[in-house]
Amino acid sequence: NGEIEFENVSFTYDGRQAALKGVSFKVPKGGAVALVGESGAGKSTILRLLYRFYDLKDGEGRITVDGQDIRDVTQESLRKAIGVVPQDSVLFNASIAYNIGYGKFGATQEELEEAAKAAQMHDRILTFPEGYDTKVGERGIRLSGGEKQRVAIARTLLKNPPILLLDEATSALDTSTERDIQKALQNLVQGRSSLSIAHRLSTISSADLILVLKDGHIIEQGSHKQLLELN
Ligand code: ADP
Ligand code: ADP
Repeated sequence: NGEIEFENVSFTYDGRQAALKGVSFKVPKGGAVALVGESGAGKSTILRLLYRFYDLKDGEGRITVDGQDIRDVTQESLRKAIGVVPQDSVLFNASIAYNIGYGKFGATQEELEEAAKAAQMHDRILTFPEGYDTKVGERGIRLSGGEKQRVAIARTLLKNPPILLLDEATSALDTSTERDIQKALQNLVQGRSSLSIAHRLSTISSADLILVLKDGHIIEQGSHKQLLELN
């Protein structure tokens, strides 16, 4: 289903000061939560904990998905339910189609094209010169940052997870690329629960809930409108 809850979560990397201190929030099924705050505030740590790069110890609170403590779910099944779109997508040195098809083994050409279209990859993906299961052809690593991101979005669309973790790129893109990515993200987020490290105004303004983090604390939260009224 994809309901996520952080209950009084604190977390400290080995030998460091606490990266999160008593963080509580909920992402309802299909809801969009945007994380904002300066570098080092704890945004990435929230995503890493949900993906179980690190596990909470006793006394550090609890993270649940659909009411179940994520430590009680196998990492494999948890990660099946979660799609990740990182800031800098690393692609395999293979065709674009191969890189998208990695989201779902055995996907048909039709499914690939549908995902590519929803991710606004229209021009380049529809050429598919060698079929998606070959390793020759257009090299993923030669794509621009914006194109790589759309490949990652298409791959995640194909994977079709109920939960999404998004780390938006900070670097500015040209306006037409930006519009394409915005549209691709809209198609991806639609109907799923999402937790985004947000830099785009469009992501922030369309979020159901914005969490403002500072030094591992949530210092403000609310809708975009509510936060604007606060300041
Ligand atoms: P943000 O994503 O908001 O920039 P992070 O969650 O990455 O913040 O970082 C929160 C705090 O944890 C910072 O003080 C950062 O230096 C520290 N931190 C992040 N990742 C690690 C790590 N792998 N090892 C040690 N400290 C880390
Ligand atoms: P970001 O640049 O994404 O904000 P940070 O700068 O907060 O990440 O990362 C701090 C340190 O943590 C870096 O040395 C980085 O390599 C490391 N790190 C980042 N992500 C992970 C992860 N998932 N697991 C372990 N270490 C990580």
